[in-house]
Amino acid sequence: MKDAYDVIVVGAGPAGSVAARFAAEGGASVLLIEKRQEIGDPIRCAEGVGTYELDRYLDYEDRWVAAPIKGATIYVPNGTPIKMRANDENQIYGYILERKIFDRALAERAAKAGADVYTKTMATGLIMKDGRVAGVKVKRFGVEKEISANIVIGADGVESKVGRWAGINTTLKPSDIETGVQYLMTGIDIDPDNVEFFMGNQFAPGGYVWIFPKGPGRANVGIGLLGSKIKDGGRPIDYLNKFVEERFPNGKIIEMDYGGVPVSGGIDKIYGPGIMLVGDAGQLSDPITGGGIKHGLWSGEMAGTIAADAVKAGDFTEKFLKKYQKNWESKCGKIMSRDLILKNYYIDMTDEEANNLVESLKDVDFTGVLDVGHLVKILSKVDKKLLLKLGVN
Ligand code: FAD
Repeated sequence: MKDAYDVIVVGAGPAGSVAARFAAEGGASVLLIEKRQEIGDPIRCAEGVGTYELDRYLDYEDRWVAAPIKGATIYVPNGTPIKMRANDENQIYGYILERKIFDRALAERAAKAGADVYTKTMATGLIMKDGRVAGVKVKRFGVEKEISANIVIGADGVESKVGRWAGINTTLKPSDIETGVQYLMTGIDIDPDNVEFFMGNQFAPGGYVWIFPKGPGRANVGIGLLGSKIKDGGRPIDYLNKFVEERFPNGKIIEMDYGGVPVSGGIDKIYGPGIMLVGDAGQLSDPITGGGIKHGLWSGEMAGTIAADAVKAGDFTEKFLKKYQKNWESKCGKIMSRDLILKNYYIDMTDEEANNLVESLKDVDFTGVLDVGHLVKILSKVDKKLLLKLGVN
């Protein structure tokens, strides 16, 4: 392992691998470190992702797709479904991934671009010099080492320490984090190209249960609950077990995953002198869906590209790196703000309100409605309170 790089990326999830790749493609010398021995394993994800812009990051390969998705059904508390399908029955609008393979494929792209990749290598602190980040302290096979860098990209996920070490406030309140538990189940009766969501207090107070198919008879079945909604006797796993026993009494559980998702809408400042935070480390996952793969890819690309530009310009100041936050906000700022409003609206909604809302939509055709933005437009037409909060017209 060398003693110095232009850029060090901490964490080889989707955000980190993409950041490393774009920094290396831009001509920087790059080190990507990952504390686990295997990239992508264990997963902490339901593995759902939209197809939009995915081909910017990987050429399609069957090996990282578990199931193509053509529709979604949302069940409100009284069991009424909202069914959303594409206009064209052949249109695929999302995938359930095999993240163990997907994450590794992204890291391979970073390596192909010239980044050095080290697994089983944990960042234990940052090197600070003249008030800016100047490298990373790492531990590998019990040996500690200091590696200098002009830029460090924190891609260390929801448990991120890099931001805090750099002096960025990354505190998460219980209402800013969703706790997820999931089983990979087999031998279950599901629609193999349709995802399902279950809302309501009996399923998941302030959250939802999901069924994400991974091929015939096989699916990720999980639950996400807001930290602030978890009370004694109401652990996510208790709700999930109840759901699974009722819906899939004969199904078998072959894997269990769990983890947290930041749903704060993003930390105020995702950069500093010599530092940028990407993906979950910057709390950039979507506040209403909890989806963070796409936002990790996008923020990783932005930070990696700007890191390479900074190296070319020899400018690692806060002023230069501010462009990263600007780019992020111009692509995702509005969506993040809208979805934060939606999250806060949803967690305060009673079962009765949700049932009534859907009752008033009973004549609406949801064919072709495949994203949150489209759904919100329809909902806010019948829900004036939501309309006011969002300022949608
Ligand atoms: P991560 O994928 O978490 O990667 C961070 C990496 O950093 C990890 O590999 C970690 O080992 C490494 N690391 C941490 N600390 C250090 C250190 N000190 N030194 C070196 N390495 C370190 N998102 C979706 O889009 N769709 C979904 O269906 C979905 N479902 C989810 C279900 C659950 C139950 C959970 C918990 C999350 C889900 N998410 C989903 C969110 C998604 O998994 C994350 O947003 C996404 O993985 C974030 O990518 P990332 O690269 O920022 O971080």
